[in-house]
Amino acid sequence: MENLDQFRQQARNWLEANCPQSQRQAMTVEDQYWGGKGGSFVSEDAKLWFELMRDKGWIAPEWPKEYGGGGLDAAQGKIIKEEMKRIKARTPLYSHGVWMLGPALLEYGNEEQKQQHVRAIVNGEVRWCQGYSEPGSGSDLASLQCKAEDRGDHYLVNGSKTWTTAADKADWIFCLVRTDPKAKKQEGISFLLFDMATPGISVTPIDLISGKSEFCQTYFDDVKVPKSGLVGEVNKGWSIAKALLVHERKLMAEMGSDTPRQVVVPSAAAREYLDFEDGRITDSQLRGELVDYDMNMHAIALTHFRTFEERQAKVHSAAPLVMKYVGTEAELVKSELLLAIMGSRGLGWEGEEFSEEELDTLRLWAMSKSMTIAGGTSEIQLNVIAKNVLELPQS
Ligand SMILES: Cc1cc2nc3c(=O)[nH]c(=O)nc-3n(C[C@H](O)[C@H](O)[C@H](O)COP(=O)(O)OP(=O)(O)OC[C@H]3O[C@@H](n4cnc5c(N)ncnc54)[C@H](O)[C@@H]3O)c2cc1C
Repeated sequence: MENLDQFRQQARNWLEANCPQSQRQAMTVEDQYWGGKGGSFVSEDAKLWFELMRDKGWIAPEWPKEYGGGGLDAAQGKIIKEEMKRIKARTPLYSHGVWMLGPALLEYGNEEQKQQHVRAIVNGEVRWCQGYSEPGSGSDLASLQCKAEDRGDHYLVNGSKTWTTAADKADWIFCLVRTDPKAKKQEGISFLLFDMATPGISVTPIDLISGKSEFCQTYFDDVKVPKSGLVGEVNKGWSIAKALLVHERKLMAEMGSDTPRQVVVPSAAAREYLDFEDGRITDSQLRGELVDYDMNMHAIALTHFRTFEERQAKVHSAAPLVMKYVGTEAELVKSELLLAIMGSRGLGWEGEEFSEEELDTLRLWAMSKSMTIAGGTSEIQLNVIAKNVLELPQS
């Protein structure tokens, strides 16, 4: 424990000394740095902050040093997160590579793949997108049809993917493909990595309610993928796909605590927008909802803490399985509550009469709907809980 206290002090000192003041403020989506060939920093400070964190190994503190990580254990990694949060340090690199692909490659990739891709992820050199969902294969992911035929020295990929976040900006894709159409659906899938600049790939953005188009439809037409892009064994990609989803869901469970711009929290909004009498919110309905929300958030924070301690003690529990569901549903409640508290002030889409916070609140409300869908819908999460936690019979 003493060592961890010392480590915390060192981490705190380092962050205090190195994180520029401008990088200790809430950020907009535009401030995010996503790396890759097309990536650009919004300021010199953002660049400096990223480079310092990268050189320190703290873009991915718990990854091995030989691939650009910090070589730290989970307890130390948690301390870095906490200390960054303490000073409101911005996330220096937003990355599907860091959140999803990297951990999967460290577990399932061969040495050549780790050498080629993992450090490039940490260095922000390559931006990745996720080619899982297809038109008709979302929740039932294993029914995917995009196929890869073995053509001797390469695979020939044909088909399409949908909801591919930032496919139009990504350099590479990690993609699920069907390599054996005759096998049982989970047993004919492989996990392929390939360059988005390969001839035969086309991408069309899809418009969203939030006004931003991050999604794309991605088409593959006779795309030649070198066999070195196969992760793990052919037809055994389903296990890798599932392992990667665990990382994605873990990230999403924690999302509420890392919204791009840390919009006003409901209790603070209440102080600004609601009437009080004798220190109490006069609207009893909103008062009750606010108390429920705060208590729920407190319980979620404690459960996150518990799951971490259980992991450290190698105790198996059901809690991690429910966290994606409760975390994203809580975000939904938070957004609804903020709008209810702000009243008509929370309904502005544009215009100078609304504050930045008010405009962001409505956009985040629209975005919060998607969080209960991405990475597996809430209904699917409930199915998973029913099967694995409650041991209910399956249909
Ligand atoms: C913000 C966001 C980002 C995303 N990014 C990516 C990405 O980068 N790459 C990628 O591949 N995909 C991405 N997706 C897609 C996402 O993985 C799918 O939307 C999700 O898996 C649901 O699939 P679907 O949209 O086809 O819905 P469907 O599977 O068609 O489901 C429709 C509805 O039916 C319900 N339903 C379906 N099956 C069952 C069942 N068995 N029991 C109970 N209810 C059921 C669902 O819960 C849902 O409410 C993203 C989605 C979002 C919202």
